Amino acid sequence: MKYQSTRNKGVSVSAAQAINNGISPEGGLYVPASIPQISLEDIASLAELKYADRAAKILGMFLSDYTPDELSYCAHNAYSEEKFGSDNTAPVCSLDDTLNILELWHGPTCAFKDMALQILPYLLKLAIGKNGENNEVVILVATSGDTGKAALEGFRDVEGTRIQVFYPVDGVSDIQKLQMTTQDGKNVSVCAVNGNFDDAQTGVKKIFTNEEYKKELNLRGYTFSSANSINWGRLAPQIVYYFSAYCDLLKNDKINNGDKINIVVPTGNFGNILAAYYALQMGLPVNKLICASNSNNVLTDFINTGVYDRNRTFYTTASPSMDILISSNLERLLFHMTGRNDETIRGYMSELEVNGKYTVSDDVKSKIQEIFVAGCCDDAATSQTIAKYFNKYSYVVDTHTAVALNVYEKYVENTGDTTTTVVASTANPFKFNEAVISAISPETSLDGKDEFELLEILAQKGNIEIPAQLSELKTKAVRFKDVCNKEDMRVQTDKFLN
Ligand SMILES: *Cc1c(COP(=O)(O)O)cnc(C)c1O
Repeated sequence: MKYQSTRNKGVSVSAAQAINNGISPEGGLYVPASIPQISLEDIASLAELKYADRAAKILGMFLSDYTPDELSYCAHNAYSEEKFGSDNTAPVCSLDDTLNILELWHGPTCAFKDMALQILPYLLKLAIGKNGENNEVVILVATSGDTGKAALEGFRDVEGTRIQVFYPVDGVSDIQKLQMTTQDGKNVSVCAVNGNFDDAQTGVKKIFTNEEYKKELNLRGYTFSSANSINWGRLAPQIVYYFSAYCDLLKNDKINNGDKINIVVPTGNFGNILAAYYALQMGLPVNKLICASNSNNVLTDFINTGVYDRNRTFYTTASPSMDILISSNLERLLFHMTGRNDETIRGYMSELEVNGKYTVSDDVKSKIQEIFVAGCCDDAATSQTIAKYFNKYSYVVDTHTAVALNVYEKYVENTGDTTTTVVASTANPFKFNEAVISAISPETSLDGKDEFELLEILAQKGNIEIPAQLSELKTKAVRFKDVCNKEDMRVQTDKFLN
């Protein structure tokens, strides 16, 4: 299987090269040159496997330059019981006959980013070897919070890799800071930067694009790489859990093989829902893909009108991981919907860069609308939805998942659709404890409560258990106390590599 670029169809690289490079040199995203097909019989046999083996099989269809043994090794290490609490890596919780929640947050950082970032380090390390290098892989990350922790956990103690994370000194929450500064692992390093997130990100970019420094490091046995969310190595693992959810519904007699399902996804960068689209293209029986946004509803408008317009107010919401106005992975969908027309994509993307806006043709718009439905909801509706599901099902959802549930309800009201539905649940409610407590127990005062008190309150009010990954932070020693100026990020990186 070869990979093309959305901005240059002529590009043809292996999966290992696509994963190694992250982004194509002319700025496009890598997409598979064809979509592998899976039959209903294949799905039935996947249903007999554990998650890690389901993952190895599906990844094998895309990453054909990896051997089955290699993929099995990657998947079993990434999705181990130690990391996910059980071998039920992405469990499906059925609330009633039609509505099922796909819980993607049982990993080490309690959020769905773990599903991809746990396996990426293994794929990347092998990719570098396949591309003829034996260097140690060095990952640099600038983070505004969650991605840094998920990347640290993913790369922790993965042989042949090292990771250095920079975070803005006053730009992350207390619990996010603790999650990072207490990080275990012998190949990890964390440093605060005097400045904001942009300063940290600019500093990392400067190191990445310093060719002289890269050469020097190469000689010292290191190769830089990135764990960016547009990397194919992060997208491909996300396709797996949609098949896995379908298999679990089959096993639990919720559906018959071949029945179509709806998939609802709370969306930011469009990665998670794009993975569901690839699953559909491969042959997963899907009725509608429902794209849910918060008040930053640029995707809702795009899917409903065909106009992508980022020139709008940016809102800081209760579902911060979806506070995005440029959804990078949408470029891949457009490439497929235009019949792999790289020229059209170059046009859209340059309009986006110059005017912040582009309009797709009516033909492309109707193709998108055949499959996708979109909706959005604000923070007040998010909070009401959390309360509603708690009262009705005693089930506690986080703010991102609540956006998805709200949009799904409106879809059902409008259409009367009774198709079995899977809602992707992207974070453990404890990660957004304050908003969740306010929703399910508005009478509880949270004034002056610290993060650990909030965890206790949510456990009690919601009748759910605090994940050990979060409660144990209280007793863990802080390992990383360094703070550097933005000019000194390279010095800091050097110190770590020596
Ligand atoms: C990253 C994230 C999302 C958005 O996912 P995309 O793949 O960017 O669309 C939604 N919810 C949570 C909790 C996230 O961390």
